[in-house]
Amino acid sequence: MTTAEKKIARLEVVEPKRLEFGKKWDYAPAPESTEHIKIQSRYELFIGGKFVSPKSGNYFKSINPATEEILTEVAEANEADVNLAVKAARTAYEKYWSKLPGSERAKYIFRIARQLQEKAREFAIIETMDGGKPIKESRDVDIPLAVAHFFYYAGWADKLDYAFPGRKTRPLGVAGQVIPWNFPLLMAAWKIAPALACGNTVVLKPAETTPLTALHLAQIIQEADLPPGVVNIVTGFGKTGAAIVNHPDVDKVAFTGSTEVGKIIQRAVAGTKKKLTLELGGKAANIVFDDAPIDQAIEGIINGIYFNQGHVCCAGSRLLVQESILDLVVRKLKDRIQTLRVGDPLDKNTDIGAINSSDQLKKIKELVQIGIDEGCKIHQSTCKLPERGFWFPPTFFTGVAQSNRIAQEEIFGPVLSILTFRTPEEAVEKANNTAYGLSAGVWTDKGSKIFKISSQLKAGVIWANTFNKFDPSSPFGGYKESGFGREGGLQGLMPYVQLI
Ligand code: NAP
Ligand code: MG
Repeated sequence: MTTAEKKIARLEVVEPKRLEFGKKWDYAPAPESTEHIKIQSRYELFIGGKFVSPKSGNYFKSINPATEEILTEVAEANEADVNLAVKAARTAYEKYWSKLPGSERAKYIFRIARQLQEKAREFAIIETMDGGKPIKESRDVDIPLAVAHFFYYAGWADKLDYAFPGRKTRPLGVAGQVIPWNFPLLMAAWKIAPALACGNTVVLKPAETTPLTALHLAQIIQEADLPPGVVNIVTGFGKTGAAIVNHPDVDKVAFTGSTEVGKIIQRAVAGTKKKLTLELGGKAANIVFDDAPIDQAIEGIINGIYFNQGHVCCAGSRLLVQESILDLVVRKLKDRIQTLRVGDPLDKNTDIGAINSSDQLKKIKELVQIGIDEGCKIHQSTCKLPERGFWFPPTFFTGVAQSNRIAQEEIFGPVLSILTFRTPEEAVEKANNTAYGLSAGVWTDKGSKIFKISSQLKAGVIWANTFNKFDPSSPFGGYKESGFGREGGLQGLMPYVQLI
């Protein structure tokens, strides 16, 4: 056989395999090394600039959801610990922080940003181990955005007079902040950075399943030499969060989490002078018109719902497709989900990591079963899931009606519900037919259509020909049951100041 014949023979063997849809390239494992990562065997509460033991002496475990391995144990703060944290924050507010000029506050916040940036790789790995998200997301999205938030708000600290021309600002006092498990460090940055920039002090509670990056941030805050008590981090369960929210000496409550808990918090602060912002759930419509660039839209749909295992409040969890292109979109989506790599979150090639907890996995499975029972058609990747840990394959449903629960309720997992529409009016009506209003997406070739449709959508963030893009200078927040108040951008300063 000549060399050329050999080449053709080789191609004949290889090509059909390579072109076969659904067959993945065989990547060699590329796990991020964890050797240099120091996870302590125990973490204490960060109060008044020191790491202190909880009054109860109780600790709870934080596990790696991809392996079910126990990573460490973390202090459980009770009411007495929260009292101490609020007291430390009040003292720091009165003694130092509210008296410092903005330019001095900025120096501290810049210092946090720089130190976080220096340790970005370490934070990305810890985030992935504690929460299950793929390393490519914690490394390329969560940590850089958290750093960017600190840089961005450090820049505002001495420019508040320009943010609100003609007005003077005064800080509010002590901010009590409670955050969820889907973007642990990023949510901490969203909360802490604007609060500090505006001259407030902070008591923050991370979620029970993902406390580690907030506690490592506490170490950075200590190293950055912030006056003791300016930032306090208390770990624990829902009760700890409630103790912060209900504390009489807290001036401002900022909460990100479920609509259910958001409602409890709104009731709890009603009748008090506490200022409140709520960032809650969502059921975003991602609308694809027949003139959209289809392959780009498919990538946007994939990113919109399977990014971070669908643990995203603004996920594009309802796909509204123009009827004429439904078959094409469904066929392309079927092919594409089959190529998504589900598995070890520390592997650099992984697209979909572990579900954050067994409780969350149970909720996803229940809602998927409801979708099947209500007669919707399920399409699922046949990928092999790891034996240990919490996993769910990329999934979507067709034949979904607006009344189906999977079209109404937040699944908060890698599960997409596909509905169809014929006219732009029908698309808008269906998109707005939800109790939520956090985000939406529009895919079309026509700029004028984008403007027309997006002005009619009742959602806080609307992406056009893209999805799930964030920037510290863009405000983020919802309408209706997705909450109120904005985080990010100039608007994100507003909840932390009093205008005089
Ligand atoms: P969650 O149960 O509402 O918990 C959020 C935080 O609140 C956690 O730190 C939680 O502590 C704490 N908490 C629980 N009960 C509380 C109470 N009664 N008082 C005060 N704090 C309390 O929500 P999740 O399950 O962690 O997160 C998923 C939900 O968050 C989804 O619905 C998602 O849409 C929403 N979310 C919204 C945004 C947004 O920006 N709009 C962003 C991320 C997530 P424990 O961890 O100990 O339960
Ligand atoms: Mg964990």
